[in-house]
Amino acid sequence: MDYRKIMEDIYNEILPFADKGKQADYIPALAKVDPDQFGMCLKTIAGDEYPFMQADTRFSIQSIAKVFALAMGLSLKGESLWGKVGKEPSGTAFNSLVQLEIEKGKPRNPFINAGAIVVADILLTELDDAEGEFLRFVRALSGNDSVDYNMEVALSERQTGYLNAAIANLLKYHGTIENDIEQVLMFYFKMCSVEMSCRELANAFLAFTNHVPFDFAGYRLSQSRIKRLNAVMQTCGFYDEAGEFSYLVGLPGKSGVGGGIVAVYPMRYSVAVWSPRLNSRGNSVMGMKALELLTTATQESIF
Ligand code: GLN
Repeated sequence: MDYRKIMEDIYNEILPFADKGKQADYIPALAKVDPDQFGMCLKTIAGDEYPFMQADTRFSIQSIAKVFALAMGLSLKGESLWGKVGKEPSGTAFNSLVQLEIEKGKPRNPFINAGAIVVADILLTELDDAEGEFLRFVRALSGNDSVDYNMEVALSERQTGYLNAAIANLLKYHGTIENDIEQVLMFYFKMCSVEMSCRELANAFLAFTNHVPFDFAGYRLSQSRIKRLNAVMQTCGFYDEAGEFSYLVGLPGKSGVGGGIVAVYPMRYSVAVWSPRLNSRGNSVMGMKALELLTTATQESIF
């Protein structure tokens, strides 16, 4: 498959969407990012890498971090993790509070904010140095020791993170989280603030294609668990747009409001794409379009 040529064709086809949408501005530090950027990188299990345009520009991974946190949580807690967070699609926005109140503090899934905040709390309980361990794990996955938190972004989100603070308070009220609210929120914001490039994300997510045993920085997951983690990405990775992503792209994946999207084709490849302009659901406009065209052109999807 000539992925390089396919990416060039895709880019020409998505150019009309280049000025559609806008970058996340509810996090002031992200509002400053130049919205007119695009990068992509596909990596096959054979190790072939196809970087395209700004594949090496780092950006805020935001909710993509929730996949890394879940992988750590599952490795530490196994199936018992699901006692505190569900695995059903929410059909609501990533930062919605509605179901959380009705369902008495058990978030629908680990990829909406409420669920990821619960996973952050679990990691804080299980690990002496959760913040250090999270970085160690992501560095091992991406093969790059310089991957780091961006404290300006994390603190900027903390200053305006009213909704997430409300979610954390509701979780605490219902006894779902154990640690101090401020500590949990700051860890969550730091995870979201990690900066990686498309090439680094494609590298990291190659581990989720399930072609070799998952064992990074001491965190191990069985093939069966990875398969199930992909199932949760498929059904919940794009919040109230998960059905649309399944329909158009047909791969498990995860997005973030930094404009990144990563998708996994089990036993074949991982692909990361980034463009900061988002649609109303908080997913990258050009990123969604690029992946739709990729799986259409290659006829490669899980369906
Ligand atoms: N840090 C962001 C938030 O909590 C992550 C959201 C996202 O990427 N969808 O709002």
